[in-house]
Amino acid sequence: MPGNVSVVDHPLVQHKLSIMRDKQTDSVTFRALMSDVAKVLGLEAIKAFPLSTKPIQTPLMETSGHFLDCGNICLVSVLRAGNGFSESLSSLIPEAPVAHVGLFRDPVTYQAIEYYFKVPPNMPECNVLVLDPMLATGHSAVAALDKIKQTNPKSICFICLVAAPEGIKYLQSYHPDVPVYTAAVDDGLNEKKYIIPGLGDAGDRLYRTQ
Ligand code: URA
Repeated sequence: MPGNVSVVDHPLVQHKLSIMRDKQTDSVTFRALMSDVAKVLGLEAIKAFPLSTKPIQTPLMETSGHFLDCGNICLVSVLRAGNGFSESLSSLIPEAPVAHVGLFRDPVTYQAIEYYFKVPPNMPECNVLVLDPMLATGHSAVAALDKIKQTNPKSICFICLVAAPEGIKYLQSYHPDVPVYTAAVDDGLNEKKYIIPGLGDAGDRLYRTQ
């Protein structure tokens, strides 16, 4: 695996991802599993974040508490499948602001076209998690990271559920400094740029739009 890519191959993640891949799995189950896996991937990424220490009083004595700066963790949902991750991580870190990047794939060129961009004002103080479950061609990931970098955050990482080798290569060619966390690296892309074996269209499976 190229540097900067962490494959979170925890047995429970692999188990849940395999249920998600199954085309018989319904949307309700798919959404719940997406939420579970998002938490594990998010926890893995947040391992790199700094803690500050301050004294706290337990019922028994004074000791040191270790704290994350949760209000300065920004969750960036790449619409719309990114919402499957951001809603889950938002319940884990409720203080974290949530940014949205709206991108769609041009059906002919497969290029990412932006239609929405909204971030919180404290981006320069933020450690950012960019969330997009499917890293396919990498075009939308690169477009989202380009825009997020313009806001000068403290750090950025990219979290996906399934990555294609082509997408990883493309992302790393533009943003080699951005660590990638994924539950799986699949075989590649088909002629329609879907990840194979993949799990189909993550947005459609989450929101039952197919
Ligand atoms: N987006 C998806 O939802 N699935 C893919 O396989 C590729 C892009």
